[in-house]
Amino acid sequence: MTPAEVVKFAQDNECLFVDFKFLDFVGIWQHFTTPISEFGEETFEEGIGFDGSSIRGWQPIHNSDMLIMPDPTTAKIDPFVEMTTLSLICNIIDPITREGYSRDPRFIAQKAEAYLKSSGIADTAYFGPEPECFIFDDVRYASGPNESFYSVDSVEGIWNTGREEFPNLGYKPRHKEGYFPCAPTDSMIDLRNEMMMVLQENGLHIECGHHEVATGGQCEIDMRFNSLLQMGDDLQWFKYIIKNVAVRNGKTVTFMPKPIYNDNGSGMHCHQSLWKDGKNLFAGDGYGGLSKMAMYYIGGIMKHAKALCAFTNPTTNSYKRLVPGFEAPVNLAYSNRNRSASLRIPVTNNEKAKRVEYRTPDASANGYLAFAAQLMAGLDGIENKIDPGQPLDKDIYGLSPEELKDIPSVAGTLEEALNCLEADHDWLLKGDVFTEDVIDMWISYKREAEVDPVRMRPCPEEFALY
Ligand code: GLU
Ligand code: MG
Ligand code: MG
Repeated sequence: MTPAEVVKFAQDNECLFVDFKFLDFVGIWQHFTTPISEFGEETFEEGIGFDGSSIRGWQPIHNSDMLIMPDPTTAKIDPFVEMTTLSLICNIIDPITREGYSRDPRFIAQKAEAYLKSSGIADTAYFGPEPECFIFDDVRYASGPNESFYSVDSVEGIWNTGREEFPNLGYKPRHKEGYFPCAPTDSMIDLRNEMMMVLQENGLHIECGHHEVATGGQCEIDMRFNSLLQMGDDLQWFKYIIKNVAVRNGKTVTFMPKPIYNDNGSGMHCHQSLWKDGKNLFAGDGYGGLSKMAMYYIGGIMKHAKALCAFTNPTTNSYKRLVPGFEAPVNLAYSNRNRSASLRIPVTNNEKAKRVEYRTPDASANGYLAFAAQLMAGLDGIENKIDPGQPLDKDIYGLSPEELKDIPSVAGTLEEALNCLEADHDWLLKGDVFTEDVIDMWISYKREAEVDPVRMRPCPEEFALY
């Protein structure tokens, strides 16, 4: 839609308010709302001011004035606001220079797309993320039997799974057996269907929803792939809709990668491919039906994987998921069909569907940053012809320490990922996609606000041990 079309759309729908949304550095959607009387075509020209110093990791207080610039192509009616409200996703600009703000994740995603085009390698990068999540009871509203017996405020319940929970309500999937018996074992189908309805009504192309392997209501709903920026926007709508449908049903959703000890965690596998003039550049006649270019792309991801983890697995909890035996990859290897490898090449005879699935990322990531960083790693592989070596078509979890010793692994902690990013990030700076300032700020924010506070706090298991 153009600005004029958005104004008409708001009139036709009798909108009373306009809600402006943008993604902060850390990956949480922020918003504010104005009455419709304050909104017009000029809003798209002038923007609206806000205090950039109150957003984590953004502006210092003495330079706090920033502007949001709504993107007219993102107009929708917000399905969760009672009084009809137009919703717009925004970019952030500096009010003085009127240039895009370098720490705005959406701007970084736009620059990644521009860099791809300018490289001449491809014109479009497609991303198909598979965000998994847990649906727990919201203890404020919990009622009736269902499987999500882990109350969110019961640390004991979450921490010490493997014990008999109380009350035992029957038909509970056992750990790692949630994938995927029918109801009544799967008690989430109605809720997932409601989520899928709302997602579709809001323009997201939904392919499938199912229970996942873990107990405690672990679910996955899959979207069809989309171009990088568009998928960044879609992922925000996706999380927003999933969480809000859950809450109106007395449930609560978490995309936290590993909420339950000893059961599968939640990943966000990212399927990806590069296209030019409507042709899939990843289809070829090499291993797994991939092209040479796709191999180099894999090489780039493998080479930079540890640093990349700082964006694809950006929380301390991310590394509780990346352990052997839970379908989450620990080792950097590529393989056909193999879910123990970090890079899987899904089996398909369809040339258009040839793609690489990077299995390391999780949905605690900021989508714009995680997609942009993966693309930059892959492009570095193509530009420098980085050979990914031989595939590893074995159950990697079953390999002996001797066999594993030459296979590199992903980062083991957020601290390690940040140290690796500090040492290895030139590939992110190309085309000014990420800047030194963004990398520095990301590292220092994550160290101070997340790594240190978690490191310095006693955890429940330490009480059991000591
Ligand atoms: N939940 C698994 C993970 O942490 C993935 C399961 C699957 O293959 O979909 O990545
Ligand atoms: Mg899955
Ligand atoms: Mg997958």
